[in-house]
Amino acid sequence: MSNRTLPLDDRLYAYLLGKSLREPAVLAALRAETASHPRVNMQIAPEQGQFMQMLVRLIGARRAIEVGVFTGYSSLAVALALPEDGRLLACDISEEYTAIARRHWKLAGVAHKIELVLAPALATLDARLAAGEAGRYDFAFIDADKGGYRAYYERLLALIRPGGLIAVDNTLWSGAVADPDAQDADTLAIRDFNDHLLADQRVDLSLVPIGDGLTLARRRN
Ligand code: CA
Repeated sequence: MSNRTLPLDDRLYAYLLGKSLREPAVLAALRAETASHPRVNMQIAPEQGQFMQMLVRLIGARRAIEVGVFTGYSSLAVALALPEDGRLLACDISEEYTAIARRHWKLAGVAHKIELVLAPALATLDARLAAGEAGRYDFAFIDADKGGYRAYYERLLALIRPGGLIAVDNTLWSGAVADPDAQDADTLAIRDFNDHLLADQRVDLSLVPIGDGLTLARRRN
């Protein structure tokens, strides 16, 4: 027994997947297509997708936002977990990557739940705030340019309701966040973001060591 988080070697990780992953065929198909993509490491782990579906269902989310779509694995996972009248605002700037996403959303029968906006996410989020949508969302996921994390987080914290949840990807950054020799811009941005959240009394906080690190911030009442 251990009272600290277990490191997962290949054997134990395979066991975890074997005993808990229930990846629907539509998600498996998207993962298979993205496997040969040169930027496949931008896709979340399948158990993380399933975990995010659990979160969406637990909080009864109906309206969600995603910042950073790539080929659409996390947005498809979230859309599948939303109720039939649920809606996901998906923000990205890449026509090329999201064309793959759109095709799979359609195949999975959830395209009607997802509104994709191709524009810098900050502009999209500011437009929603200006349109009076503060407090109207339940769940948000940030998985985009690391230098933008703090700005996305501030907008999303205004857009979600009290009790709503923001999930933030890559907050352990392959371990580089804890390596004093790592001083590149992305690592510095994630360190700064993690420091910011630790001090942020507006949210309840948990950094979950799933995938590349998934920070959960629940807006306090
Ligand atoms: Ca990511």
